[in-house]
Amino acid sequence: MTEPVKRVYAFGKDAQGNNVTEGNTTMKATLGGKGANLAEMANIGLPVPPGFTISCQTCMEYANAGNVWPEGVLDTIHEYRLDLENRIGKKIGDAEDPLLVSVRSGAPMSMPGMMDTVLNLGLNDESINGLIKQTENPRFAWDSYRRFIQMFSNVVMGLDGDLFENAINAMKAVRGVKSDTDLTAEDLQELVAEFKGIFTENVSGEEYPALVVDGSVQFPQDPMVQLKLAIEAVFGSWNNPRAVLYRKKNKISDDLGTAVNVQCMVFGNKGNTSATGVAFTRNPANGAKEFYGDYLVNAQGEDVVAGIRNTSPIADLKHVEGLEEAGRELEEIFVLLENHFHDMMDIEFTIEQGKLFMLQTRVGKRTAAAALHIAIDMEKEGLIDKKEAVRRVAPDQLDQLLHPQFDKNADYDVLARGLNASPGAAVGEAVFSSADAVAAAEAGRKCVLVRWETNPDDLAGMIAAEGILTSHGGKTSHAAVIARGMGAPCVCGVEALKIDAEKKQATVAGTDVVIKEGDMISLDGTSGIVVLGAVDLVMPELTGDLDTILEWADEFRKLGVRANADNPEDAKLSRDFGASGIGLCRTEHMFLGERKQIIQTFILNDDDAVREKAVGELFEAQTGDFYGMFKEMDGLPVIVRLLDPPLHEFLESPRALDVEIARLEATGGDKTLIAEKRMLMERIDGFAEQNPMLGLRGCRLGIVYPILPEMQVRAIATATAKLKKEGLDPKPEIMIPLVSTVAELEKLRAVAEKIIAEVAAEEGVELDIEVGTMIELPRAAVTADEIATQADFFSFGTNDLTQTTFGFSRDDVEAEFVPQYLQEHLLPYNPFATIDPGVAKLVEMGVKLGHEGNPDLVCGVCGEHGGDPDSIHTFNKIGLDYVSCSPYRVPVARLAAAQAALEEE
Ligand code: ADP
Ligand code: MG
Ligand code: MG
Repeated sequence: MTEPVKRVYAFGKDAQGNNVTEGNTTMKATLGGKGANLAEMANIGLPVPPGFTISCQTCMEYANAGNVWPEGVLDTIHEYRLDLENRIGKKIGDAEDPLLVSVRSGAPMSMPGMMDTVLNLGLNDESINGLIKQTENPRFAWDSYRRFIQMFSNVVMGLDGDLFENAINAMKAVRGVKSDTDLTAEDLQELVAEFKGIFTENVSGEEYPALVVDGSVQFPQDPMVQLKLAIEAVFGSWNNPRAVLYRKKNKISDDLGTAVNVQCMVFGNKGNTSATGVAFTRNPANGAKEFYGDYLVNAQGEDVVAGIRNTSPIADLKHVEGLEEAGRELEEIFVLLENHFHDMMDIEFTIEQGKLFMLQTRVGKRTAAAALHIAIDMEKEGLIDKKEAVRRVAPDQLDQLLHPQFDKNADYDVLARGLNASPGAAVGEAVFSSADAVAAAEAGRKCVLVRWETNPDDLAGMIAAEGILTSHGGKTSHAAVIARGMGAPCVCGVEALKIDAEKKQATVAGTDVVIKEGDMISLDGTSGIVVLGAVDLVMPELTGDLDTILEWADEFRKLGVRANADNPEDAKLSRDFGASGIGLCRTEHMFLGERKQIIQTFILNDDDAVREKAVGELFEAQTGDFYGMFKEMDGLPVIVRLLDPPLHEFLESPRALDVEIARLEATGGDKTLIAEKRMLMERIDGFAEQNPMLGLRGCRLGIVYPILPEMQVRAIATATAKLKKEGLDPKPEIMIPLVSTVAELEKLRAVAEKIIAEVAAEEGVELDIEVGTMIELPRAAVTADEIATQADFFSFGTNDLTQTTFGFSRDDVEAEFVPQYLQEHLLPYNPFATIDPGVAKLVEMGVKLGHEGNPDLVCGVCGEHGGDPDSIHTFNKIGLDYVSCSPYRVPVARLAAAQAALEEE
């Protein structure tokens, strides 16, 4: 016979004062966070009102069976309820001395907003008399009863809370009083009757036939019916839309379920020696070592959070008459809890007539600044060691510290939401083109660039703008990637936004808002929020704590961290953030702006002399670029990728040209001009490809136009020689992109080596410049052993590798069907944000085969995944030498790399 499944667990003491708790803090998967820690507190001797916990698995069984109770569970609950009554010496529903309970949800992970708590369960028209008798306090008893009906109706039956609040307000108006506390026992008794009426009117008898008495729905009088309905409501809340959405956002499994805690009530509303409150063992905002929190005298739990009355700071508690002892005990418990859990804890408590009860504890949420500060303090205090301190800070939270944010006290309405594509907040005038952004910035005005989607043409505007807002595209769209790289805030994929770039305005679906050019807007790229008007921004205070934790992280990590940067400013920023080199310098970003004209001349001209002149100009410009980069990164490696994108990216859009020609013709424009434009358009059309991403790009460009890599290598070598002569130590490395066969690499490597040797001879300096390749095509990964014979290093370009492994076009699929795939669990997450296991296998294979071909091969990754903590864990396992990410992600990557290394220990 199989063991019967244990579904219910007791906590707290029995009548003799013995601890009968069956769980502990390690059992969160069974008891939920709240239940596990109620058990733990009871185990360490803290005053916890007794009760029992129904397991999370029971919730899943119930839900999976289509909201049907698994066999025997109701009987078990019945047993535990009887046991609880014996332990307490009171009975639920008793007319002399009733036991009241709370019914509290509690999932394995904290899930705010999932389900509220029902307090005072067990009250009915009989037990109210018992409560009055026992407390000799009719006002308290009637207040408890009306609260119960109100909460039960709202939380369990889903009635609108306003129905009841309105009735209370109407009563206060009639009585001419301001506060709830001014209502008398009789007033409250009257409210109870009114509330029952509201219940009868608003609950459907068809939905709840069991509640129909004599043809109308009645508020349930049987405590067992109340209890069963309340537990069912908690179970059901696991699948309410808010909870489902929350889990999706936070990558929490749908299969965990929530526990239900049934616990004896204690009362913080029994007069002036009673109180209730919430507290943290340290300051969760800045991490300071001080008791932090609020309490309310003569109140029940929900009043504190609801902000109905003004609360007092927790430090005052021990000075309040009648609460001194409880206040002191609470402070002792704070210390005890920290020593026990070795962390900053969040606490809920209630004081009933001077006696303290602990109702909840969990590890406290904190800001990034507080997380750093607390981890460092606790290491100093000996509560945790350095490794644990490094584990304590969530890498993604660090972003908070590196960018401006909306002021927490700011008052604003959210206009629209999109994807939180690049962290930080921005405020500025809306502009609808790159040129307008540049113009605004030049005139000293702050602006936000609003585009359907951005493309390489928008780069100047993106740099000029404070922030970027797009209505299309996902988290790895052009706008998102570039914004993150620049550290600019970006919200993308705001579907409600309908942009008319011609008219320079945008409308917002579901509102009558029209954003015109020049209107102030604010966006928060950390949360994906767009606001009409200017929200106050604050810059987080950077203390030395970040450096301390990152230095500790550096002691433990195995992965190197480099940055993706293509200009000296970003290179400097990367260095300041602790990057140990540049893992990817994209040279195409150096061909924009004024230089675009030169490359266009090169592409579109047949005349060799003209082309050579253009290449000469590019050479001069590039030599200057590289000189600046290498100088900034003196002594550290800089991997320069040779020209990668399809050439047509540098050309005018043929559609725009077509329109221009049509306009010229219609207005009788100059015939020769029209002819010229036509020729131009034909040439541009000649470059059009069906699948540019699979076309003439990467190393293929260098093979078709050898003059381009020759020019670039010469510029790299010349800049290096110049710096060497100045006594510096430049360390460039040349990277050939999009290689699929070893023959391609062999050919271009020979070109590079030839030019390097030439420059070395001309300049009279020794040049030792490594040549390597990107592994970003499946064929390259599976033939890495061959390719490695021609490479000093590999850099895995996981963006392209993801595109080509899945056959997904990144620019399209993120908006087209990836959301649906995620919804239907066809994909567990967006593979462009976090490395997919299939793509990771190719990386792993590439590393292994690569080392067979060249034992000294250095392997890194330079795709977007290089800055993603989850992906960093994968790369650490694979044994890469380094990851490379945008400058602002460098601190995040350093920390994530350390945590990955510690996880392996
Ligand atoms: P949440 O998960 O939203 O924090 P809780 O289950 O912790 O919900 O309940 C909210 C509040 O209700 C608690 O902070 C506490 O003040 C009050 N409460 C819950 N259970 C009891 C109880 N047994 N006795 C007194 N108050 C309680
Ligand atoms: Mg709580
Ligand atoms: Mg690529």
